[in-house]
Amino acid sequence: MDKLFYFQKAAEIPCSCGQTHHILTQKTMVDHSLIEQIPSVLDQLHLGKTCLIVFDENTYQAAGQKVETILNQEKYETIPLLLHHNSPTQYLEPDEATRYQVGAGLRYQPDFIIAVGSGVINDLVKFTAHRSRIPYVVVGTAASMDGYPSPGAPMLVNGYKITFEASPPTAIFLDLDVLTKAPLDLLQSGFSDLIGKTTANSDWILRNQLQEEYICHYSWDLVKEALQILLESADQIPQRKSEAVQALSIALLNSGFSMALVGDSRPASGAEHLVAHYLEMMSLSRGEKTSLHGLRVGAATLVIHKMYQRFLEEIDSIDWAKITSPHPVRVNKKILQEKFGFLYPSVEKEAIHKLTAPIVLTDSYKKPGFSNRLRKMISDKLFAIPDVEQALKRSNTPSTFEELGFPKSLVKDSFLFSRFVRSRITILDILDEADLLEEYVEEFL
Ligand SMILES: [Zn+2]
Ligand SMILES: [Zn+2]
Repeated sequence: MDKLFYFQKAAEIPCSCGQTHHILTQKTMVDHSLIEQIPSVLDQLHLGKTCLIVFDENTYQAAGQKVETILNQEKYETIPLLLHHNSPTQYLEPDEATRYQVGAGLRYQPDFIIAVGSGVINDLVKFTAHRSRIPYVVVGTAASMDGYPSPGAPMLVNGYKITFEASPPTAIFLDLDVLTKAPLDLLQSGFSDLIGKTTANSDWILRNQLQEEYICHYSWDLVKEALQILLESADQIPQRKSEAVQALSIALLNSGFSMALVGDSRPASGAEHLVAHYLEMMSLSRGEKTSLHGLRVGAATLVIHKMYQRFLEEIDSIDWAKITSPHPVRVNKKILQEKFGFLYPSVEKEAIHKLTAPIVLTDSYKKPGFSNRLRKMISDKLFAIPDVEQALKRSNTPSTFEELGFPKSLVKDSFLFSRFVRSRITILDILDEADLLEEYVEEFL
C-alpha cells in the first residue's frame, strides 16, 4: 500500500498545462489510530486553542465524541455543535436552516472549526469557514465522496443546488478505524462517485477538442491512477476490508485534489453529475427520498457510458455544422417552466441561454483526422475502467435507478433536462443539438 500517492502536505506544482498548481491543505493524513494524533498536529499548525466542533448524531458517535475528549485532555477549549436534521428526507441537507445552525456557533468566536463528518458536514463547515475567514479542519467519517480537499461547497439555495467557491481545509484526517466502521452504502457511494470520473473526463476532452477549453493532463493522471488502484480492491469493498477502505479513501482524496489543482469541478463532474444533481433537486422539491450522492452518480454513469460508446461508434456521421447553427429544438421555455417548477427562476438564465444561443465550437471538427483523434482521446478516459458495470457489481453497489427508488419518468427527465442547469457543455448538449438525445435516452434507459 506504500505505493499509494497523495498530497500529504501543501505543494506548489509547475505543470505542463502552463499553470502553477497549488495544494493549500497543509496536512492530509490517512491512517489507523489517527484521532489520537490530532492534538499534536493541530499544535504544529498553530490554529489557536479554541475550536468549534461540528457534528450530527451519527458522526458524534462515529468520531466526534472522541475528538472532543482528546482535545479537552490536551487543553483545547472545545465548543460542541450538534446539527439537527430538519429535512423531510432522511439526510442532513446543506440548506438555509442547517447553514443557520452552523453560523450560530460562530458567536463563541472560535479560532478554528473542526468538521466531523463526510459530504454535507464538510461542505457546510467549508462554506461557513470560508465566509467568516476562519480556518477549518475535517475529521472524515466516511469515504463516501471526493469533496474533502476540493475548493467548492455545494449548497442548497431555495432548493436549488449551487456550488460556491470556498477554501479547502487546512488539514484532513481520515482515520481508517472510523472509516471502516461507516455504513456500507456510504463506502459504495464513494466507490461509484469515482466511477463517474470516466465520463466527467470524457466531457472535459469533448470541450477541449471542440471548444479549446483549457485542460490539465496532470489532474487526469492523478485520477487515473486512483481509479486503477481502486479497481484492484473492488471485491473487498463489501467486507469493508481495511486495505480497500484505504485505497478508496486515497482515490477519493486524489480526485478531490484534482479539483483543487484546477480550481473547479471539471476533472470530477460531467453529465453524470448533472443527472445526479437534477434527480436530487427534483426529489427534494417534492419532499421525496434522494439516496446518496455517489450512488446516483454511479447509476447515471452507467447510462452516460453507454451513450458515449454509441457516440464513439457513430462519430463520423455527427452533423457538427447543425450543432453550431440555429435550428428548431425539442424544448421551449414553457416546457422548462413545467419541468423545473418553482426551481425555474434559479435555472432561467442558463436555460434560456442554452435554448437561444447555438453551441459555439471551433473549426477543429473540419480538420482531417478529427473523428479518430477525438475517439482515441475520449476512449482513453472512458475506458480507464474497462467495464464500469462489472466494477460496480464486484463492489456489490446498487447501480440502477430502480434500485435507488427513482420513478422512471423523473429519471428520463433527468437525462433530457439536466443540461439546462449549467453552461459547461457535456455529451448531453452535443447529442441534444444533434437531435439524437431522445433516441439515445430511449435506447439506454
Ligand atoms: Zn461527486
Ligand atoms: Zn496542470
